Amino acid sequence: MGIQNSEYKIKPDYHRPWDCENCGYGDLVFIGLGEYKCPKCGHINLDDYGKVRDYLDENPGATVNATSMATGVSKMSITTMLRDERLEIREGSATFLKCRSCGAPINSGYYCHTCAKLAEAADRKKREKEKAEERMENIHGISAAIEDTDGKMRFRRD
Ligand SMILES: [Zn+2]
Ligand SMILES: [Zn+2]
Repeated sequence: MGIQNSEYKIKPDYHRPWDCENCGYGDLVFIGLGEYKCPKCGHINLDDYGKVRDYLDENPGATVNATSMATGVSKMSITTMLRDERLEIREGSATFLKCRSCGAPINSGYYCHTCAKLAEAADRKKREKEKAEERMENIHGISAAIEDTDGKMRFRRD
């Protein structure tokens, strides 16, 4: 057995904290956005996402390099968060993600707004074409059936 498809889709581990870094208590409560609260001492522990988010809150517009150096989270991991749209680069900040189609700078995801719209329109067209082809096949199917019953083509006049 090879690697199952679903295993490829598992999100990267953001190094969820298991023990409180302040008091060592081991039953942290996830409170959202990468933050885990210690019920014993109230300390907020952060996973990679929380660390990056926290840093960017205080240093808006920081580059991935600077963020990675300051938080200790790998550049690859930060880029993954941006691709997953878990993080977004603020308007006017130095951008480093590029649209996969046209290369325009983007804040998150894979495509710029223009290319995302074009891709969506192309997708819709493709689906419409497939539907039309399906209808054509049905029509062919009917005429073939008519031909088969009495051996000759006949025309319906009613
Ligand atoms: Zn604690
Ligand atoms: Zn684009």
